[in-house]
Amino acid sequence: MVTGYAMQFDRAGAPLRRIERVFSAPAPGEVLLEVLACGVCRTDLHVADGEIAARYPIVPGHEIVGQVVESGAEVTELIVGQRVGVCWLGSTCGHCRFCRSDHENLCDTPVFTGATRDGGYASHVLANADYCFALPDAFGDVEAAPLLCAGLIGHRALTMAGPGEALALYGFGAAAHIIAQVAVWEQRRVYALTRPGDTATQEFARSLGCTWAGGSDQLPPEPVDAAIIFAAAGELVPQALRAVLKGGRVVCAGIHMSDIPSFPYADLWGERSIVSVANLTRADGAAFLELAGKVPVQTTTTAYPLERANQALADLRAGRLEGAAVLVP
Ligand SMILES: [Zn+2]
Ligand SMILES: [Zn+2]
Repeated sequence: MVTGYAMQFDRAGAPLRRIERVFSAPAPGEVLLEVLACGVCRTDLHVADGEIAARYPIVPGHEIVGQVVESGAEVTELIVGQRVGVCWLGSTCGHCRFCRSDHENLCDTPVFTGATRDGGYASHVLANADYCFALPDAFGDVEAAPLLCAGLIGHRALTMAGPGEALALYGFGAAAHIIAQVAVWEQRRVYALTRPGDTATQEFARSLGCTWAGGSDQLPPEPVDAAIIFAAAGELVPQALRAVLKGGRVVCAGIHMSDIPSFPYADLWGERSIVSVANLTRADGAAFLELAGKVPVQTTTTAYPLERANQALADLRAGRLEGAAVLVP
């Protein structure tokens, strides 16, 4: 048991509020972590706005780099002092049809860190030990944080996009800036589509190896094998469909999106497909973290003191960040 503090949404639509808190001793199978850094994800804005299922009051944050300060009974893999990562997938039931078929990302009764259990916008956090990841030593605490959602779920989206050589990324924030590096390392041609007129982000994308960058109102310079949409704007779906080749795939990587406008069936014709990516499995996480060290991925981060979390969220909402915001208690 330790005394600390957290930044909490009392309800949807309310700003974060600092609360003093006693963090209880970990239950069997849990660990108590001291938070070293916690990334800020677009999903946190959806929690703030009440756009996805969450319980309130809630402490958001699901890109947690933490150090084990206390282990509960039955925890055998983690030791006190060890640095671990905690992601969105807080735990799963282990027995539903999805858990039994290697699709724990689709579990019927999951627990999501920072949405249905308290997350990492805090000095400390409790986590299920079986869902903590070992982190590559090469990454500092702040640098590692964005790997834990932007990287993990971005990589699941990249895998679902298939092995095609030409790839379009719509929305060039925390996830795209990581996944672009992986795709370039895989020798693909990567085209970045940003908010129209956002030349700073387009320049940022080119600096990471993207072949071309432009506004999302443009088409990439060649038809692509696949497009991944990281932005929460539904109107990008028909635009991306028009950018992909026959047989191409449009992957919607966000947890929430505004409504998708209607479009002619001819744009889908030719065995084009639209899919969504939901959550991640622990196997995805382990595979990506190993890959991130191999590339190696370099995350671009802006660190904020935890108490300035409202400012970090506002900057993310306004598109004022390159890469990822990370909170440091
Ligand atoms: Zn399940
Ligand atoms: Zn996230």
